[in-house]
Amino acid sequence: MSVTVIGAGLAGSEAAWQLARRGIEVNLFEMRPHKNTPAHHTQNFSELVCSNSLRAAAIENAVGLLKEEMRRLGSLTMLAADKHRVPAGGALAVDREGFSREITDLLENNPLVNIHREELITIPEEGIVIIATGPLTSPDLSQAIARLTGEGYLYFYDAAAPIVSLESLDLNKVFRASRYGKGEEAYLNCPMTREEYDVFYNELINAERAPIKDFEKQVHFEGCMPVEVLATRGRDTLLYGPLKPVGLTDPRTGKRPHGVVQLRQDNAEGTLYNLVGFQTNLKWGEQKRVFSLIPGLEKAEFVRYGVMHRNTYINSPELLEPTLQLKSDERIFFAGQITGVEGYVESAAAGLVAGMNAALLALDKKPVMMPRETAHGSLLHYITTAPGGNFQPMNVTFGLFPELPVKIKGKRERGKAQAERSVQILEHWMEQEKTIQI
Ligand code: FAD
Repeated sequence: MSVTVIGAGLAGSEAAWQLARRGIEVNLFEMRPHKNTPAHHTQNFSELVCSNSLRAAAIENAVGLLKEEMRRLGSLTMLAADKHRVPAGGALAVDREGFSREITDLLENNPLVNIHREELITIPEEGIVIIATGPLTSPDLSQAIARLTGEGYLYFYDAAAPIVSLESLDLNKVFRASRYGKGEEAYLNCPMTREEYDVFYNELINAERAPIKDFEKQVHFEGCMPVEVLATRGRDTLLYGPLKPVGLTDPRTGKRPHGVVQLRQDNAEGTLYNLVGFQTNLKWGEQKRVFSLIPGLEKAEFVRYGVMHRNTYINSPELLEPTLQLKSDERIFFAGQITGVEGYVESAAAGLVAGMNAALLALDKKPVMMPRETAHGSLLHYITTAPGGNFQPMNVTFGLFPELPVKIKGKRERGKAQAERSVQILEHWMEQEKTIQI
């Protein structure tokens, strides 16, 4: 039996490799060079459309650990990255042409991989299919995906607010409450005095913004305004919008604060919180500087910064199993950025799992779930269980991992302990899980 993979980007190329190394024939469809996306410039597979960095190399960092797990799982992306590494301090950066050329050559020369340079505009009605068409999925195929998943479950842009870790907040300054005491005390509230608000406001409106690409301008027309743009409408506008204090009393003063920033729980475990209404286009360094002026966030760890960019992705918590199969049709897998993971490495990692599981299905075996304590398992757990309603893409971060059995002081030491646990569990799982062995 052969498997169809749509899209030869970071995820699709990795998925095709995982299938072929398990002896499964692959039909890999890539629309470039006949039809391009607004971001790709070459006809190479796994093209890095922007930075040439695959981010931190050390495994004490969650993305470093994800890469190490990929190496152990026989990743094509990591094989090419390690071979084409260029000096970049603590990061794993690559010669972008060498990296994607290597991946293209290895797939083109693999007798089990049939390459079709064409755009697919429908989803094959039979056989196993992996959809890995990325954040810039072609419009016709996007429509086919919307028909498959339901219109409301496919998003076209990502207007995300920053996310901070609970453990980094100053809980002496914030209080738990819902507006007017309605329902559970669902929010963490950061109260501001008039003076604190004024300082924050001035820094916000003058902060440096990220440039917007032409093909991303539509994001602003689609009605999701960045907090810094809303602020420029007037000094008090935010106090009637995302920072409105009505219905909230600060238990420390017994009074209504001048303004309140609300933080909403972002993962099932309650270790991550997003800043409500703070979708933003500020540069990342500026987000850290300006949002750290919010009382309680002085030392906040930003596990994800806010972004506003074009991004096609599905509502994975509603639609996908942690095996990356569609709940309503188990022969269809999604992989890469379209599942709501964010970043080159995360996209390739999702491709690896989808490819491995599609191979198992093709061999009449049961697809597997990656252990929860691994970086792969934690990332896929997040995208398939994130609380409903407001699902937004995510990089891998230790905030997504299950807590360690003992508290460890120091970020680096905690990262090291997380990494040791993950690698040990992954190794044990790979030994036990006979079906994935090659
Ligand atoms: P892609 O790598 O985009 O692969 C999808 C492939 O599918 C493409 O080759 C495309 O041509 C093809 N395709 C689309 N539709 C069809 C169709 N109908 N039929 C056949 N083929 C099709 N992440 C980072 O970590 N660092 C960055 O610096 C970074 N910069 C980014 C900049 C931009 C402008 C964008 C849009 C994203 C960026 N990302 C970055 C996010 C993300 O990591 C990349 O987009 C990554 O390439 C996603 O991998 P993917 O495999 O899901 O999609």
